[in-house]
Amino acid sequence: MSVIVYIENDGATVKKSSLEAVCYASAYATSTSDTVTAVASSLISDDDLAQLGKYGVANVKKVDDANFTDGNILVIASTLASVANELASKLILMSHSSTGEGVSARLGVKLSASVATNVIGLPETAAGFVVKRSVYTSKAFSSTNLSREIKVLTIKKNSYEVLEGTGSAIVEAISAVASENDLRVKILETKKQEGDILLPEADLVVSAGRGLKGPENWGMIEDLAKVLGAATACSKPVSDVGWRPHHEHVGQTGIKVSPNLYIAIGISGAIQHLAGVSSSKVIVAINIDPEAPFFKAADYGIVGDAFDVVPKLVEAFKAELG
Ligand code: FAD
Repeated sequence: MSVIVYIENDGATVKKSSLEAVCYASAYATSTSDTVTAVASSLISDDDLAQLGKYGVANVKKVDDANFTDGNILVIASTLASVANELASKLILMSHSSTGEGVSARLGVKLSASVATNVIGLPETAAGFVVKRSVYTSKAFSSTNLSREIKVLTIKKNSYEVLEGTGSAIVEAISAVASENDLRVKILETKKQEGDILLPEADLVVSAGRGLKGPENWGMIEDLAKVLGAATACSKPVSDVGWRPHHEHVGQTGIKVSPNLYIAIGISGAIQHLAGVSSSKVIVAINIDPEAPFFKAADYGIVGDAFDVVPKLVEAFKAELG
């Protein structure tokens, strides 16, 4: 039996969140003596697809079709269903993203499968197939038993470690499977967010809010992000007034991030902001007000004026990291 993983791409490269899903699949497949088959777009080169073998993938089905692209959930779901039927697969995985959410729901219907989203950690299989899920914007966990024979899971970003080994996967080209109905949606253009480090995938995020007083003060935020190799983000009011671009806005109504480190500077920590950042591994809050709500959600806090603290941090990190 093969565990199937859908691979998302970032233009031409495999997304880190998909590597996490692959490593999850690989750990599960090892425990059940199964193999891992990845299904990916031909936008990714054959060499890069073969490299998935380092993470435990035995075979890659490379889908050579312009309609098989991240976001085109109807075509992806139909193609994955066809591969799952062909391989008699009982477990299909993907990362938890807007594509993963849309595909998993449709795949669940097509395969009459149990679906669990935002899964963190391998299943308990002693009595059923119980997965732990992050729910209510990471404020709680749910243990969910999947009772159908076929299971579809989306894996929460940054919840499973990427372990690189050795090996090379066999890459085989296949065609997309799409009904006339699936082709109703056409993706005409995809515009990539600007910047070297994309916020949704970033490991480190430096974020700032209204405490910065104005757009002219973002130089020190960018300096801090640069020295750390981090993406920049901001609170909603900051992007609403045009101090920063909208694609940097994180929170309930913005991008949800789960980096290893989230540094919040001059952000109060309103519940709507925390909804998008609270699943970060480590949160550092810098705020002049010792009563700021962010300190309750933070792992580390610095009570101080951002205009004093941030330049000192930049200097200290430059001295440490070069
Ligand atoms: P403020 O609340 O004004 O806080 C500024 C902070 O900076 C304060 O804590 C202050 O002590 C500190 N400060 C001031 N000067 C300094 C200094 N010199 N040094 C250090 N600290 C300083 N917000 C989001 O961010 N994302 C969302 O997705 C979002 N969605 C929303 C959805 C709805 C339906 C609603 C109603 C609101 C939403 N909001 C969202 C808005 C949210 O409620 C807050 O108003 C917003 O997050 C506050 O932004 P802020 O912390 O930058 O500003």
